[in-house]
Amino acid sequence: MLRLYNTLSHKIEEFKPLNPPLVNMYTCGPTVYDYQHIGHMRRYVGDDILIRALKTNKYKVKQVMNITDVGHLVSDADTGEDKMEKGALKFGLSVWDIAKKFEKQFFDSIDLLNINRPDILMHATDYIKEQIVFIKILEKKGYTYQIEDGIYFDTSKVPNYNKLSRQKKEDLKVNARVEVTGKKHPTNFALWKFSYPNGRSFDPTQDGARRQMEWESPWGVGFPGWHIECSTMAIKGLNTERLDIHTGGIDHIPIHHTNEIAQAEAATDKQFVKYWVHHNFLHIEGSKMSKSIGNIYTVEDVVKKGFDPLSLRYLYLQTHYRQEMNFTWQALEAAQIAYKRLLEEVAKLGKPKIARLPKPGTGEQGCAEYEGKFLQALNDDLNMPKALSIVWEVIKSDYPNSAKAESIFKMDEVLGIDLSKAKEKSKRIKVVASDNIKELIRQRDELRRKKSFTKADHLRNKIKKLGYLIKDTKKGVEIEKI
Ligand code: AMP
Ligand code: ZN
Repeated sequence: MLRLYNTLSHKIEEFKPLNPPLVNMYTCGPTVYDYQHIGHMRRYVGDDILIRALKTNKYKVKQVMNITDVGHLVSDADTGEDKMEKGALKFGLSVWDIAKKFEKQFFDSIDLLNINRPDILMHATDYIKEQIVFIKILEKKGYTYQIEDGIYFDTSKVPNYNKLSRQKKEDLKVNARVEVTGKKHPTNFALWKFSYPNGRSFDPTQDGARRQMEWESPWGVGFPGWHIECSTMAIKGLNTERLDIHTGGIDHIPIHHTNEIAQAEAATDKQFVKYWVHHNFLHIEGSKMSKSIGNIYTVEDVVKKGFDPLSLRYLYLQTHYRQEMNFTWQALEAAQIAYKRLLEEVAKLGKPKIARLPKPGTGEQGCAEYEGKFLQALNDDLNMPKALSIVWEVIKSDYPNSAKAESIFKMDEVLGIDLSKAKEKSKRIKVVASDNIKELIRQRDELRRKKSFTKADHLRNKIKKLGYLIKDTKKGVEIEKI
């Protein structure tokens, strides 16, 4: 039985979908205004593991993911520019081109990390009509009001508005500032934002520039709010008002997902989502990712530095999804070394011969016992660090190679790190040394070119003491971790 932490109950619960074996799942997708980095990707690997775990437990998963290509403002308090319009200016492209560019970059990263693509992908700009219908339902039920800035949702009409985050009222006020004139209450949020005051059309004499993305609505010219996009597409794409699972980053809990619950439950009078799953953040060398520090890395950057993208996936698996993760290049080097070693070990096993399914609880001996342990770790709120350690236990065990291979290939259906391609991959992956080792290798190369062999040997020993063996091959220098 799969057990999952549910943000709504603040507890680990037994997972029981509404209509088994079907599992309806919605994933908040990217806002395609800039590069998706390795912090974003940690989240999507987390969702991918969740889906693979559900499938291992014989559920049929239907996953909808959205692409936010309009309406996500820089500030969660419904102010500031639309991230898309800001991105368009930054890159000197139209909003539509920017959406295409970064959606491609997103999926390139997704593919490199072996993340399965969603069953249904929905772009917010393709469902404007449906979002307007949703807002009209809320309007009819008395949950909305109009101000100069747009149509707002009145959160005071919702009982238990903060049930997901369990924030105290005082904290809610601090977190959601009233920055929009006439907003009435700090937690109220925009359903439809007007492009120009009171929903009037563009007027070149009064307005600076025309918005690139805007639509007619019963209330005036404007665009939808970010929260209404997700609830509308979740209900439309999954064809149900009651979802089994909704996922996102932990930062979505207090505002985005809280507002999704408020508006969806107000419209349908049903519990919107049974299980809320949230992934924790990734930090870089102990700091938040930020442009000013210059520590925002993409999967492409990782590949450019000579790493296999699946070493990054291996690294992600070493931290539980609800724990903050600290990324360092050194940790990635170590992950690549461990991943390479695992591939080498798996390559030695050859092909699996017997097909055996795990039979936990039957006392059966052999690799099935490890498969049972692996499943237990997976079902224990996706304990992937533990699951990964069980793969190594299989390698070290005394079971026949064919049985080991059988179990490990099955485990890889969850891990997604290409263990069935171990033979070819283990040769391709190289050890990547940190910048200081690379510098020592460069200096040694220079000394050799100058025929200062004694000094070059001295450097070779220094590098050895730091844990790397140097091999001079026809193709150049290769290194090996000792
Ligand atoms: P952004 O595109 O920057 O608005 O981020 C979109 C979402 O990606 C955020 O709301 C988070 O849920 C997630 N995210 C952003 N940065 C990180 C990070 N460093 N680690 C994990 N998730 C992140
Ligand atoms: Zn969302």
